[in-house]
Amino acid sequence: MRFTYTALPGRVVFGAGVLASLPAEAALLGKKALVLCTPGHRDLGQRAAALLGEQAVGIFDRAVMHVPVETANAACEFAQASGADLCVAIGGGSTTGLAKAVALRSTLPILAVPTTYAGSEMTPTWGLTDGGIKRTGRDARVLPRTTLYDPELTLSLPPALSGTSGINAIAHCVESLYSEKANPLISLMAEDGIRALGQSLPRIARQPDDLEARSDALYGAWLSGITLGSVGMALHHKLCHTLGGTFNLPHAQTHTIILPHAMAYNAGAAPEAMRRVARALSAKDGVRGILNLIAAIGAPTALKDIGMPEEGIERAVELAATNPYYNPAPVKKDALRRLLRNAYEGREPEPYCS
Ligand code: NAD
Repeated sequence: MRFTYTALPGRVVFGAGVLASLPAEAALLGKKALVLCTPGHRDLGQRAAALLGEQAVGIFDRAVMHVPVETANAACEFAQASGADLCVAIGGGSTTGLAKAVALRSTLPILAVPTTYAGSEMTPTWGLTDGGIKRTGRDARVLPRTTLYDPELTLSLPPALSGTSGINAIAHCVESLYSEKANPLISLMAEDGIRALGQSLPRIARQPDDLEARSDALYGAWLSGITLGSVGMALHHKLCHTLGGTFNLPHAQTHTIILPHAMAYNAGAAPEAMRRVARALSAKDGVRGILNLIAAIGAPTALKDIGMPEEGIERAVELAATNPYYNPAPVKKDALRRLLRNAYEGREPEPYCS
């Protein structure tokens, strides 16, 4: 055995109702908190600000997808004008992303209160979109110092989005298992993350207000975020980044459609990872386990149903085959073309690299 493992720092407070500890947790990081949220969830921002009382110096409610640089600039100016020494981000990956953009320039610490399963709160990765182009990078300053995981806040996440957001989290775990930087601790987390999400997502689809299932899913999302932040990803994330960025496809649904295909692509080259996915899902093989889970939550299976243009397949093949990156199986255009065609049509995956 040979590996390198770098632990990421961060405090995690987990459990139903832990939002109530926001004032005490915020006081450990600063005295003047700026609350960030999306326009659609200003109620959440107000709830956080009310709990913080005099510790809150303002609410910036303009977080949107992909962190446009103009929004990041406005948030930084708001933070400076309010004299904030701490950012409280309450919402999904878009809100956490805005807090990261503020932290990158101002060095304000972040206290994250995630309300989806995206996992951004566990990573030191930031993203900024300027003129339609999204840049990403890693910087230790943007890793939230404290995260409050309160499953009660996820009860309102619609069942369809809960399912695809959860499969998005599973995708982080799967790719961490066959990552170039895979290591035994992250693989343990990945397998348990897949298990927790695999068991809880069908329960949430059947009964969205099942708090125990919500708690299990958020636990799995926490683990998945750690895996994403700790080791490099591969073909699946490259494809989803390409499809999302070029054709503006919805993030979680794209991950859900591509995952079984990317797994089938890598299955022959990463048998141990597939064995662990299968074990986590109590399935005969990893790809089948993921397909069964997608069917159980009724998620989309075809790119053509979520806005992908058919003529975009060739463009996606070219983009996904450029800029060499690590992947267990060699990245070849013919195999990628078959993968994207099947994903476009909603067909089952095939052994693309045999
Ligand atoms: P999001 O934050 O845009 O939320 C998705 C939708 O869910 C929004 O409409 C939001 O209003 C709604 N929502 C959020 N919480 C809710 C709740 N509890 N109840 C009801 N509705 C709720 O998106 P996301 O899927 O959380 O995150 C995706 C974004 O995060 C992408 O831009 C992605 O690139 C980024 N991301 C970044 C990292 C990273 O490491 N930097 C990791 C994962 C995702």
